[in-house]
Amino acid sequence: MRRARRDENMLRRHRDKDAGPESSGSAPEVEKPEDGWREELTPEQYAVLRQCGTEPAFTGEYWDCHDDGMYHCAACGTALFSSDTKFDSGTGWPSFTEPAVAEAVTLQKDASHFMVRTEVRCRRCGGHLGHVFPDGPGPGGQRYCINSAALKLDRR
Ligand SMILES: [Zn+2]
Repeated sequence: MRRARRDENMLRRHRDKDAGPESSGSAPEVEKPEDGWREELTPEQYAVLRQCGTEPAFTGEYWDCHDDGMYHCAACGTALFSSDTKFDSGTGWPSFTEPAVAEAVTLQKDASHFMVRTEVRCRRCGGHLGHVFPDGPGPGGQRYCINSAALKLDRR
């Protein structure tokens, strides 16, 4: 099981330091066999994070959540979005004006479903989070439309 051992070492190494700008690059830092993710995540989390699924609007845990805290990646625990940037978009999905740390997410063009959108992924584990649209209310004009299933709120 060479591969499993290597993954373990990678995880340990990256847990010791915060993901900084030096971690930029397209390859996720946390790599796991798909079976590993399937065991760790709930079916809803797995469908979103690993299969680029979208939860039905107004069904997720956080679309109407107004608690203060930090939203972390449900797969790898990286801090992704602060409740300070969360706003009511009326879409039924948690919506944010910007990531807590710009480097925590990667953006890439997604031309699936006959639309051209910008997909948002967790940089650390490569998990699919949602999409970003240029119609947000903040100064940056961005609306990060994120699935509740991809997030875990750490309330403060
Ligand atoms: Zn992640």
